[in-house]
Amino acid sequence: MRKPILLLCSLIIVLTVDAQIKAMVGGTLIDGYGGEPILNSVIIIDGEKIKSVGKIGELPIPAGAEIISTEGMTVMPGLWDMHVHLMINGHADYAYWDKKYPPLLQKVIMPASAEQLLMAGVTSARDLGGPLNESIAVRDAINRGEIPGATMYVSGPFLQHRPYPGTEAFRWGIYGEKDAREKVQKLAKAGVDCIKLIDQDEMTKEEVFAIVDEAHKNKLKVVAHAHRPNEIRIALAAGADNFEHTGLSSAPEYPADIIQALQERTAQMNKGPLFWTPTVQGLYNYEEMRDNPEMLDDPSWHRGLPDSVVNDIRQSLAKPGELPYFQLTPIRKPTLVTKFKQLQKTGVVLLIGTDSGIPMAFHSQTTWNELDIWTRVMGMDAVQVIKAASYWPSVMMGVDGKVGTVSPGKQADIIAVKGNVLKHIALLQNVDIVVKKGKRYK
Ligand SMILES: [Zn+2]
Repeated sequence: MRKPILLLCSLIIVLTVDAQIKAMVGGTLIDGYGGEPILNSVIIIDGEKIKSVGKIGELPIPAGAEIISTEGMTVMPGLWDMHVHLMINGHADYAYWDKKYPPLLQKVIMPASAEQLLMAGVTSARDLGGPLNESIAVRDAINRGEIPGATMYVSGPFLQHRPYPGTEAFRWGIYGEKDAREKVQKLAKAGVDCIKLIDQDEMTKEEVFAIVDEAHKNKLKVVAHAHRPNEIRIALAAGADNFEHTGLSSAPEYPADIIQALQERTAQMNKGPLFWTPTVQGLYNYEEMRDNPEMLDDPSWHRGLPDSVVNDIRQSLAKPGELPYFQLTPIRKPTLVTKFKQLQKTGVVLLIGTDSGIPMAFHSQTTWNELDIWTRVMGMDAVQVIKAASYWPSVMMGVDGKVGTVSPGKQADIIAVKGNVLKHIALLQNVDIVVKKGKRYK
């Protein structure tokens, strides 16, 4: 144990005991690998890392350890959300937001989003599309412990054919093969964690192939938007590593040639897994919010945001049934279960991701919602869903040796929730304990 730090502020004495050794004791542990839960678990944390994992009566608790009781709780790895947008917070009008809020992004908006994720039990998240300097600055400030937030993996700007007017700060156009390589190099040099492609069906084949090739040369994986069939076809041919979303069109299922191409790709074991982040919660969340507007009053999404911004967002959502963003939802939603199951059969590794930040989808709420839909609607086993929100994302980001599961040697990113999460996964909407890098935040 470190020495207590005495802080004298006029007449107030604050006593902080920052125990080096912590023991989380009693709960049922789901370690993230997809195996059987461990009952009456004991997790010993030393500083930022997990030292050992065992059971009460078998694994001794070191004298002087700070005991965190997890009795009656489900204990599991901190969640990962593989598709978030820190720069937006649920406002309905992107054009308005992109014009008004750039000055607040780095100091207010993005940190608030990252903190909301953390307090929801999301200890790691991947931001797929944001302004470069701000994305890096917020990620690094969190890593240095200056501000609270999920550990961030960021793509910086989207790479696409042409930026939509007014979005040039976070959408970079690609003008030929040489430019494609230069833009990827610029992102790599700035220190991004992956490359995000969107609208790649509007680029030339040479441009898409150059982006993926240059990214791989720089040890960066490529995450590709997959709303249109041709986006999937071209990015798959170029060797993209991860696809996002489950198809915008009203087509009832994926075309046969795409399914076949995915099967051929996943059969090539030497290339490693092909990842897919279906991001289905947005469509379910929309109807939930529209029909139960009381949900909009949950203050969890206000955290870190000035009242003026909260009011602005609320104002934009005053008529949830009329939001242009969701007009296709009634057509898209009925096709999701079929497409989700088609993807599962191809052998792609599914990842939890939510598109949090899109209209009405708040960072404090989207991740548990995605897990809930995968189990309740898509019929997936809860242990596997949790694996898709912990172990697999860490593999995708190439950090599974360091973080992502509750096992010895890993970074201590651990959450605990009252009750049996495997039976009632929606319990995750109220995470009771959040530990990140060995530090308790909740
Ligand atoms: Zn997105």
